[in-house]
Amino acid sequence: MNEHAVVIAGGGPTGLMLAGELALSEIDVVIVERRATQVVDGSRAGGLHSRTIEVLDQRGIAERFLAAGHVAQVVIDISDFPTRHNYGLALWQSHFEPILAGWVDELGVPILRGSEVRGCAQDDDGVDVELSDDSSLRAQYLVGCDGGRSLVRRAAGIDFPGLDPSTSWMIAEAEMTDEPDVGPRREGGGIGPVNRAEGGGPYRVVLREQQVDDTDQPTLHDLSAALVAAYGTDFGVHSATWISRFTDMTRQAASYRRGRVLLAGDAAHVHPPQGGQGLNIGVQDAVNLGWKLAQVVNGTSPASLLDTYHAERHPVGARALRHTMAQVALTTPDERHQALRDTMTELLSMDEPRRRTAAMLSGLDIHYDLGDGHPLLGRRMPDLDLQTTDGPTRVFTLLHDARPVLLTFGEPRGFDISPWCGRVRPVDARPDGRFELPVLGEVAAPEAVLIRPDGYVAWAGDLSDPDLPPALTRWFGAAASP
Ligand SMILES: Cc1cc2nc3c(=O)[nH]c(=O)nc-3n(C[C@H](O)[C@H](O)[C@H](O)COP(=O)(O)OP(=O)(O)OC[C@H]3O[C@@H](n4cnc5c(N)ncnc54)[C@H](O)[C@@H]3O)c2cc1C
Repeated sequence: MNEHAVVIAGGGPTGLMLAGELALSEIDVVIVERRATQVVDGSRAGGLHSRTIEVLDQRGIAERFLAAGHVAQVVIDISDFPTRHNYGLALWQSHFEPILAGWVDELGVPILRGSEVRGCAQDDDGVDVELSDDSSLRAQYLVGCDGGRSLVRRAAGIDFPGLDPSTSWMIAEAEMTDEPDVGPRREGGGIGPVNRAEGGGPYRVVLREQQVDDTDQPTLHDLSAALVAAYGTDFGVHSATWISRFTDMTRQAASYRRGRVLLAGDAAHVHPPQGGQGLNIGVQDAVNLGWKLAQVVNGTSPASLLDTYHAERHPVGARALRHTMAQVALTTPDERHQALRDTMTELLSMDEPRRRTAAMLSGLDIHYDLGDGHPLLGRRMPDLDLQTTDGPTRVFTLLHDARPVLLTFGEPRGFDISPWCGRVRPVDARPDGRFELPVLGEVAAPEAVLIRPDGYVAWAGDLSDPDLPPALTRWFGAAASP
């Protein structure tokens, strides 16, 4: 039986990101992936929100994605937000995954392709993972990144409460002989635009269906009938490259961890794609979990650190679920909902509601509850330009290797970091620019900040603060004895 520190079931966006994070911490990790290649069936997710671009920037790989997509103001304008990435990135999942897989490959993570996790059983010391070829793997931890129908979730006995579907949509990519209407159209049941896919390509169609209980794979005939129902014509639809369905089923795992089994991405939360959140929060789940799991595996931190993963990410998932439920309700094709849509449009034209909603959708307002303290505590560290004795740099560059940083602004007198040396990197710098957060605005510059590998602030204040040593121990393990 092959042994690994961590086995990841599923090499979609979440599993790949998690593997990269673990590999940066030199953890022995393997991905088991059902698909034989990284090819994505259909286009699925259409892009990245600002915070996801930021977390990729924190690892020094954002440029790869930016070069492959189109920068745009998606859904709501965020061009006035204090971030280098004050936009969204239009990039199909089918393009996103191979780029991310390329990075994971450079980091040397093995991927068992064409292989499936069939079951798992955990004991006090580890997890046995059964594979489809009747072999098995032994791991200290198993992470289910195996999508909405997660076998790992079911095998671990983790509940998945939520709402059954109330609405179903057909989604397709196909050619059309006649020029179709492009743009939103709600009457007759069509909710979504018919759009041209990136770079010309086939048309992308999203149509609300009349019933929700049709679980068969839809055909070209079904697509034609749905177009006729919505538009009165099927525009001569032909040569479909992809036809599928999705629903507004909305569920969330009751716990993101059971012992040595963890869940991330769609395995932990499913919701309809309105608002474009799923891939984004999955990637950010992975970035929250990766460094914590690495520290537990390498003995720096106790296993209880993993409970902060559920405590921090479950509320973020729950908020996305609530938001997408509201979005689905808004798409209901009748006059009362049209009135509601008009009201929302009016609200979002006002500055404060726009900023709050945009900060939530972009992921820039995430605030982990780490207690009372400086406004930066539990929030993403802004990517300030810095002057150091080694020359100019910026905050995100300091995070490329996924290690924590104690960043001091001025001589770090009076605090001895040596008990955490080798784990936490001390950097002294002069910041260029103000400490500005989306929605909150400018906050007072602290004397120092302790930045976690995921880019969130674990502590901020002055170096004589008695909360600093407990914060270092809580997040990065007990002080080493002299
Ligand atoms: C039509 C549509 C549009 C969407 N639009 C957006 C959008 O605009 N923005 C956005 O952020 N999200 C969007 N999403 C959601 C997004 O596609 C998902 O949230 C994202 O793919 C989740 O990533 P994941 O890695 O968690 O799961 P998945 O992408 O589902 O990956 C799971 C992986 O696990 C593998 N697997 C499954 N079971 C096993 C097993 N037993 N053993 C081994 N491997 C296994 C699968 O082959 C797959 O590769 C959309 C989804 C759909 C359907």
